[in-house]
Amino acid sequence: MSVEIIVDREKCIGCGKCYDVCPKAPKIWNIDKNGKYYAYNTLYCHNCKLCAGRCPTSAILIKKMSK
Ligand code: SF4
Ligand code: SF4
Repeated sequence: MSVEIIVDREKCIGCGKCYDVCPKAPKIWNIDKNGKYYAYNTLYCHNCKLCAGRCPTSAILIKKMSK
């Protein structure tokens, strides 16, 4: 599915819940040197929104792309 996952760097507290809950986490999520999570590859994302629902600071925005 073609989606864009935007993580608000200011809001992310690095708890890793997005990673824990995502069925395809190793193929989608990574952690940067500041301990913030980001979606490096959304190819395997099926837009279940579990990550956004679990994020305690509402840092994750998932946008469905038109194509
Ligand atoms: S929407 Fe679902 S599949 Fe996509 S990154 Fe979030 S938890 Fe993973
Ligand atoms: S669940 Fe939210 S706050 Fe926690 S690491 Fe993921 S994006 Fe950051």
